[in-house]
Amino acid sequence: MSDPQTTKSAYAKPIPVPSHESRPFWEALRQHKLTMPKCSACGHRWFPPTLLCPSCRSAEVVWEPVSGRGKVFSFVNFHRNYHKGFADERPYCVAVVALDEGPRMISNVIGIAPDEVRCDMAVEVVYEDIAETATLAKFKPVG
Ligand SMILES: [Zn+2]
Repeated sequence: MSDPQTTKSAYAKPIPVPSHESRPFWEALRQHKLTMPKCSACGHRWFPPTLLCPSCRSAEVVWEPVSGRGKVFSFVNFHRNYHKGFADERPYCVAVVALDEGPRMISNVIGIAPDEVRCDMAVEVVYEDIAETATLAKFKPVG
């Protein structure tokens, strides 16, 4: 039996369900590694994952680690509550992060007041273990 004093409260936000295409991404995140699909034929990197290279249509897709560094390409701060699990975190920042390697991904910028987030701000990945089966990649300002 677990002690209610030490039991973590249940995660109240949606937990990602990996698709066939995204499963390598989520499995790497469990190891606190950020990976992106890369085309062995033309070298293109992209996100979200697809089974064929969106540049040359090759199926020679491999997953490779990326630096986890990038810049805020665009962002919006959410004030309205769309899900009860986020109610206590408002406002929060949802950003498109352009990774140094090229792909862009949607995530949260944390560790800074949402109204201080700016486009082109340098950010780096941080990992948030939200369940035994899921880890999220979020971003914080560099330095
Ligand atoms: Zn390609």
